[in-house]
Amino acid sequence: MPKPSIIAIDGPVAAGKTAVGTLLARHLGYRFVDTGSMYRAITWAALRDKVGPEDEAGLTALAQRVQIEVTPSNGQKGPRLKIDGKDVTEELRTREVERGVALISRFAQVRQAMVARQRTLAQPGRIVMAGRDIGTVVLPDAPLKIFLTASPNERARRRQRDMEELGQSLQLSQVLSDLLQRDKLDTERANSPLRPGDDAHIIDTDHIDLTQVVERILALTKDN
Ligand code: C5P
Repeated sequence: MPKPSIIAIDGPVAAGKTAVGTLLARHLGYRFVDTGSMYRAITWAALRDKVGPEDEAGLTALAQRVQIEVTPSNGQKGPRLKIDGKDVTEELRTREVERGVALISRFAQVRQAMVARQRTLAQPGRIVMAGRDIGTVVLPDAPLKIFLTASPNERARRRQRDMEELGQSLQLSQVLSDLLQRDKLDTERANSPLRPGDDAHIIDTDHIDLTQVVERILALTKDN
C-alpha cells in the first residue's frame, strides 16, 4: 500500500500539532505547513494596517490583497513566512497577534482566501498540513486525518514553555485563560469550527511524548 500523500493534523491550541507535524514530515521526507501561521500573518498585517477585528470588509480585502509566501520546513530548516516580502516568522508569536487571531479567522471570506492558498500548497502532495479545519474543510479527501488533543492544563504548561523559549514569561493562569478563550472562539464560530472529522483518528497526547505520537501516526500511515 503506498503511504498517504497528504496528512491532515487538526486540534486545539498547543495540542502539539506543529511539533508532531514537523517531526512526522521529517520522517516521511514530506513538507510541513502550519496553517495557523497564515492566520497569524493576516492578524499581523491587520495590526500593521490598523484594520480592526470587527471590520469584516477591511479584513477580507486585506486577506485577498496581501502576498503570503510560506516556505515549508524541509527537514533541516524550520518554516518561514513572508508577508508582502517581509519575513515576519518571529513576529507571529507575540501575545498581541495571539489575542487577535481567533477574532480575525472567524470571517468566512478571510477563510476562503486562506483555504485557496492552502489547497494550492497541498496540491503537489507529500505534505503534512496542520490547523483547525484541514481534515474537515481544506482537504476533506486527505487519506489520513489526525486530531490531536490534550487536557487544558497540559496544553497551558506546554504553551508556557514555548513562550519562555521565545523570551516571554507569563503566569500559567494567564496562559490557560488565553488558551481557553481562543479554543472557545475557534470551536463556537459559525465558519469551519474546530472539530474532528468523522474519519479522523483522535490521539490524546496527555500521557505520551512527542516521539510516541509520531510513532502512532507512522503506524497509521502503514495501515492506510
Ligand atoms: O495553530 P495556531 O495556534 O497558530 O493558530 C492560530 C489561530 O489561527 C487559531 O486559534 C485559529 O483561530 C486560526 N486558525 C484557523 N484555522 C486553521 C489554523 C488556524 O482558524 N486552519
